[in-house]
Amino acid sequence: MQNAFYDVAIVGGGPTGVVAANLCGIHGLSAVVLERALDVYDLPRAAVLHDDVQRILHNAGVLEAIWPATAEMAGAEFVDASWRRIIGIEIPPGLKTGNGFWPILNIRQPDVERAMRGCLGRYERIELCTGQEVTALTEHGDGVDLEVRDVASGATRTLGARWVIGCDGARSGVRKSCGIGWHSLGYDCEWLVIDLELSRSVELPQLCQQICDPDRPVTFVPMPGRLRRWEFQLKPGETAAEMEDPQRVWQLLAPWLSPDDGAIVRAVVYRFHATIAETFRRGRIFLAGDAAHQTPPFMGQGLCTGVRDADNLIWKLAMVQRGRAADSILETYTAERRPLAVAMVEHSTNTGKLIDAWAAMARGGPEPPAELQEYAYGGSRTLPDLSAGLLATGGGDWVGQLLPWTDVQGARGTGAFDDIVGPRWAIVSSAGLEVAIDDDTAGFLRHIDAEIVTVPEPQGAILGVLLANEVVIVRPDHIIYGGASRRGLVALVAQLRTDLTR
Ligand SMILES: Cc1cc2nc3c(=O)[nH]c(=O)nc-3n(C[C@H](O)[C@H](O)[C@H](O)COP(=O)(O)OP(=O)(O)OC[C@H]3O[C@@H](n4cnc5c(N)ncnc54)[C@H](O)[C@@H]3O)c2cc1C
Repeated sequence: MQNAFYDVAIVGGGPTGVVAANLCGIHGLSAVVLERALDVYDLPRAAVLHDDVQRILHNAGVLEAIWPATAEMAGAEFVDASWRRIIGIEIPPGLKTGNGFWPILNIRQPDVERAMRGCLGRYERIELCTGQEVTALTEHGDGVDLEVRDVASGATRTLGARWVIGCDGARSGVRKSCGIGWHSLGYDCEWLVIDLELSRSVELPQLCQQICDPDRPVTFVPMPGRLRRWEFQLKPGETAAEMEDPQRVWQLLAPWLSPDDGAIVRAVVYRFHATIAETFRRGRIFLAGDAAHQTPPFMGQGLCTGVRDADNLIWKLAMVQRGRAADSILETYTAERRPLAVAMVEHSTNTGKLIDAWAAMARGGPEPPAELQEYAYGGSRTLPDLSAGLLATGGGDWVGQLLPWTDVQGARGTGAFDDIVGPRWAIVSSAGLEVAIDDDTAGFLRHIDAEIVTVPEPQGAILGVLLANEVVIVRPDHIIYGGASRRGLVALVAQLRTDLTR
């Protein structure tokens, strides 16, 4: 019997793998998700989704499904041991960012994962196989063979795929089997993570707090519904066993509540790491999510970074699969994602160091340097945009940024850009501005299935984009590839053609 063969085999059905599979469905790729466990990991882990990631999930068709497992975040602050604010930021209810979504949503990860898995049923060519462990990978000229073990029976089978994505978490066997190195980025610290389900109403902070207590730094995170999280940094000499003891847990929680107020869902010591894989690709095998990077949780970016990886990779695989781009565009995956993942891990690490520095100041130490204070919530430090990879050269300030959320008009109708254009290339200009395109250019744009749309009433950030560039080319992940004057558009499309085919 012939082995099943897929465009993409995804090892690991955590959030990164399942978002990748939903995106494969949207892009018309066939895919199988192979997940060792029978059900989703049932303890809450990631606490938040950032606005750009909500946008990706909207475009992956899963945001509505996960909505019941989310709540708008009210803000975040650094406070001292008396819970007095050092610095912070309030988020007014209903506020939307330039990406069209809420600045931050709190989530309950197991419910989010279940809802996203449920969405896979929409796609005939996407399979989710649970209780299936990938035990070996063999790459050959046309694809990769995967040896898969049925966890219940122990029976093994082999299946094939053109590409494999290792979304198999921090201990990634895929990463190890490819011999990809794993580097520390300088944070390695143990924290006790406590999740608690309230059984009655208790007055607790509405904002996420980093409590810079000189005795012991603590994090507090309001989660959806009655779920709340505390994280306590371990002191030298403290062990996991003593910290996880229920009596000790309630002692630590005593300033906030008592055992009558709720039930402990989890109290486990985790080692927060800052690590990065040396490359996110080896041949036909890619890494995404925790398999490629691990971050301390102070910026709530772990799950989010994996979703961004999947979003960056899947449209490129689809372009190659359809013969619309050369295999070489796949090299831009590491080039684009790794520097941004490093920047994100370093940002979270510095946020963690700032908590320690303010706690040390309360013990008589020096004030944290101004540069470190930029990493506080509400501080001036932001994450960088894409600056290398599949981007036009000399394209101006907006290149590498997400196209601001906007309404557009085009052949497919009028509405939000993301909904009208979908996962396609797009040429975007102001309404009334005729873009001059010769037959050859038009033929190439048809070949890559590009949409031509106009913005009827540019306002806010999109106005800035269209004042700086008469026309912009936007990638299927809605990042601006390049900008030009109306007359320069043909040359910009020619540059894109070269970038996609060389
Ligand atoms: C306490 C805690 C708090 C956190 N807080 C946040 C936060 O606030 N914000 C945030 O964004 N992130 C946070 N995270 C991190 C977040 O949970 C992870 O980044 C996210 O789950 C990673 O998703 P993933 O799909 O890449 O990997 P995982 O969720 O680890 O999924 C990997 C999957 O691969 C499967 N697998 C492994 N090997 C194989 C194999 N050989 N064959 C088949 N299947 C395999 C595993 O069973 C697993 O289901 C937190 C994590 C922890 C532990």
